Amino acid sequence: MNKKIAEVLEASRKIVIKIGSNTLAKADGTQNTDFMVSIARQCADLIRKGKQIILVSSGAQVAGVSTTKEWARKKDVHYRQALCSIGQVELMHQWRKAFQAQDLHIGQLLLTKDDFENEHRSLNIRNTLFTLVDQGVIPIINENDSVSFDEIKIGDNDNLSALTAILWSADLLILFSDIDGIYSDNPKTNPDAKLIETVESIPELRKSITIGSANEFGTGGIETKIQAAEKTTVYGIPLLLANGSHENVLENLAAGTENGTVFLAD
Ligand code: GLU
Repeated sequence: MNKKIAEVLEASRKIVIKIGSNTLAKADGTQNTDFMVSIARQCADLIRKGKQIILVSSGAQVAGVSTTKEWARKKDVHYRQALCSIGQVELMHQWRKAFQAQDLHIGQLLLTKDDFENEHRSLNIRNTLFTLVDQGVIPIINENDSVSFDEIKIGDNDNLSALTAILWSADLLILFSDIDGIYSDNPKTNPDAKLIETVESIPELRKSITIGSANEFGTGGIETKIQAAEKTTVYGIPLLLANGSHENVLENLAAGTENGTVFLAD
């Protein structure tokens, strides 16, 4: 039970939801289309209740690997960028099917760090997002991996979703990954590790937990999730971290029956 999470969700109208690669892929590396169908239904329910939603979806690379199969072991950056270009189409194909079943259209935005740093581009992104959402369309964002080389790379979708939440003036950012939230220590190795349900001070949190390889289970790891919270909370946007693989996770978070870590806004 986490009533605080239910309260935060209840109070939020504009919600950015980021879904990590591990949540979008099954253990065998194929796309978890059942999950996508379920999330689309839960998003549609929230929209019917008056909420507005933007999705930030990872999973292009993993979808590319599952499509091409034989490229799975190629680590070269050009192959990885090419994989994202293949996988992005597959990813959006599945999202389109999932949202079509809810009578909702989707729109795609592929962004890089440069886009957020440039005044004209960020204004255009903002206008496109507002227009799509006003028209009842779900924007789905990913990093533009095939053009993002190091200098213009955000690098992880946790930080990309934080920049999106700030640009759109969201009320809440939700990160779905394969962990339940932030723990005091690695729960896989320490049975006494406790889930931290509410974070009021990120500097205090940083002092009290072990970050690093021992505590990294998600795609971007704990560090990028904390960085995302550092970005949004100063803009008054709380961040909620929860386990996307739990059934009906969005519904249950709203009902207060699902747990996670909520970073309260400053
Ligand atoms: N943009 C990458 C992809 O779609 C994932 C980045 C991340 O997981 O943070 O595969």
